[in-house]
Amino acid sequence: MIKEQYAVAIVGCGGMGGGHAIAIASGTGNAIWNTNAAQGTFWKGNMHTDIANKLRLAGVYDIDPVRQQWAAERGFHNYDSFEAILADEAVDIVLIATPNHLHHEEAIASLRAGKHVLCEKPVTPTSGELDEIIRVAKETGRVFYPRQNRRWDEDYLISKKIYDENLVGQVFNIQCHVQGSRGIPGDWRGMKAYGGGMMLDWGVHLLDRLLIMIPEKIKKVFCSLTHIKNDEVDDGFKMHMTFESGLTADIEVGTCHFLRLPLWVIAGNNGSAHIDNWSCEGKMARLKSWDDKDASPILAGAGLTKTMAPRQENSVEILPLPSVEFDNNELYSNLVDTINGTAAQIVTNEQALRVLKLMEAAFKSAKEGIVVNFE
Ligand code: NAD
Repeated sequence: MIKEQYAVAIVGCGGMGGGHAIAIASGTGNAIWNTNAAQGTFWKGNMHTDIANKLRLAGVYDIDPVRQQWAAERGFHNYDSFEAILADEAVDIVLIATPNHLHHEEAIASLRAGKHVLCEKPVTPTSGELDEIIRVAKETGRVFYPRQNRRWDEDYLISKKIYDENLVGQVFNIQCHVQGSRGIPGDWRGMKAYGGGMMLDWGVHLLDRLLIMIPEKIKKVFCSLTHIKNDEVDDGFKMHMTFESGLTADIEVGTCHFLRLPLWVIAGNNGSAHIDNWSCEGKMARLKSWDDKDASPILAGAGLTKTMAPRQENSVEILPLPSVEFDNNELYSNLVDTINGTAAQIVTNEQALRVLKLMEAAFKSAKEGIVVNFE
């Protein structure tokens, strides 16, 4: 049955769940907030389709009285328990925003109660758990939707455009470096039993986007984890992947970097692109001609080099990064359209499963110190 508007109940009303609550209750899909859990602008896009006609907030449930109070102060209905959400016939969609280890059990219970599910990333810490959810979603005929929202990040969409449109020629290497200096957060993210660690936290976003950007098989994976401030889970990692065509990608997440590398480095056979930061400052250098006969050697450290001498201005042009248009509410909208059967699911469960399997290959590589063949 197609509905005009679907009622959403959120389980886990912390930083992310609280943001969703404000975004959905406001009808804008956007939340500018300043709370105990987090502060800032929830997300930014250059197009915002209204979601008020698609979703409404039925209420939230959080075990923490502080978060219950936070919700009450904003006029949100507090459910007494997770079971109360499942028992509420008015609820169509359960939005899961609890710590990672709870997603599997909550998703299955929600689907079995006849609810659709929008689940925060990583949908589950292991691929086996997601396999089971997919089976139950099929059995119950309900939609399970992984919230891989960073496919709508401006820096990613610019990188994808550079790759798709060969703006620096044929790309042979892509690097994405996400670096901070505050260590892994001291909450559940630092604990294995809660599905903590930076691979499951940021890695899941970066790998999801990379696999969408490069529609190829991956042949080899090599990964090393860091444990600079946390022995229990990875507080960062470096991962090198070789795709079928020979293209390579390097993904790095670090939490102990006091100076940052560019967010993206894209190398093509006709140019290079750097995106320096999340404000999308950066540039492209594009080759005008391989010939650069006037190049003379430069001093490089204690020796001379001609190979690494900078190019003359007439053989390369410096260009601004391309711009992109995107709608940050597309994921919310697509969830509803998927439920209504009027659109195909953009973030599919099979894609989420492939990412989880790739992370498992990365963990195996890191543990055994080997290159892992993938797919
Ligand atoms: P958080 O710690 O701020 O919030 C989690 C909340 O869940 C807390 O308020 C906690 O009290 C509550 N909770 C714990 N156990 C519960 C239970 N059994 N029943 C009900 N509530 C319970 O964490 P967060 O940063 O909001 O992360 C939550 C989820 O959102 C995680 O899966 C995380 O990976 C994801 N997340 C996604 C993004 C994104 O960009 N998509 C960003 C941040 C977090």
